[in-house]
Amino acid sequence: MDKEKSKNNHDVIILGAGPAGLSAALYAARADLNPLVLTGTQIGGQAALTHQIENYPGFPDGVGGVELSDLFQKNAERFGAELVFDNATEVDLSKRPFTIKTYGTTYKAKTLILATGANPNELGVPGEKEFLGKGVSYCGTCDGWFFKDKKVVVVGGGDSALEEGIFLTRYATSVTIIHRRDELRAGAILQERAFNNSKISFVWDSVVKEIKGNEGVEIIIVENVKTGEQSQISTDGFFVFIGHKPNSAMYKSKLDMDDKGYLIVDNQMHTSVDGVFAAGEIADPHFRQVVTSAGMGAAAAIEATRFLENEG
Ligand code: NAP
Repeated sequence: MDKEKSKNNHDVIILGAGPAGLSAALYAARADLNPLVLTGTQIGGQAALTHQIENYPGFPDGVGGVELSDLFQKNAERFGAELVFDNATEVDLSKRPFTIKTYGTTYKAKTLILATGANPNELGVPGEKEFLGKGVSYCGTCDGWFFKDKKVVVVGGGDSALEEGIFLTRYATSVTIIHRRDELRAGAILQERAFNNSKISFVWDSVVKEIKGNEGVEIIIVENVKTGEQSQISTDGFFVFIGHKPNSAMYKSKLDMDDKGYLIVDNQMHTSVDGVFAAGEIADPHFRQVVTSAGMGAAAAIEATRFLENEG
């Protein structure tokens, strides 16, 4: 490609600008590695899509997801990290320096920190794709406003479903949470808040079979998994919070990953290729917290620094 530029040879390139990527950038910048961060499409990652974060230490009154992401970015930039709003499309990890291609640029790096996070899972039911953006959403913080004085349905029983469901009660007249079991996975505090919220009701032991409508979502077909009975729920909005899948497709057959696609790292964030580190939700099916992702990012940058020092 004649427009293609080649950028050689960074000490460290970080893919992703969520809590893991930006913490890695801060630590790598403070180690004088002049890190380059290819941010992807969402600076702050999933944290930036969260209305209020109440469990990141140091913010006793909570902090907005966008505000925290902005602080992460400023902190990394203050020490010299460079953020480029670009998306990696291809990587060559077979030889060093590693090659990272975006649509217009080829970068080379001595070490890589992969922190491209995870994306929401889809339910995979008829109507879900058809009504995306016309009532179907995976982000309450982003789309809640569109459902002012309307009814919404939420699917899921984890922290995300309850947190987003509670957030949606700011706008919606009612929030119906459909869960496939009769017990929630979410933590106790969120459960208590949801049960005490008069706008929230639960449909237990049920799965969604189909989303129907015309211009937008109108009806959800639900099946009780114990009785097999089907029923309809009329709604204007349909929010899905049923977990995430890691953004790791680009590393298939290049790095070791588990059967769900999470990159396998040791406890020092090393992947299966020397000089390639991973941090945050791309490598963490277990904790998936802002603070744990940030910690992994810092650890990955410390290890990248030591790796380069050992090479002299
Ligand atoms: P999660 O904990 O994996 O929960 C996913 C929920 O979706 C579960 O209740 C699961 O049901 C349900 N589910 C999965 N696949 C489904 C399907 N095909 N059909 C219907 N239901 C399905 O995911 P999450 O809520 O996104 O949370 C992810 C991580 O982030 C967790 O570690 C969580 O603690 C963390 N998080 C924390 C906070 C906070 O601390 N405030 C906020 C948000 C997220 P089952 O329960 O039956 O498996």
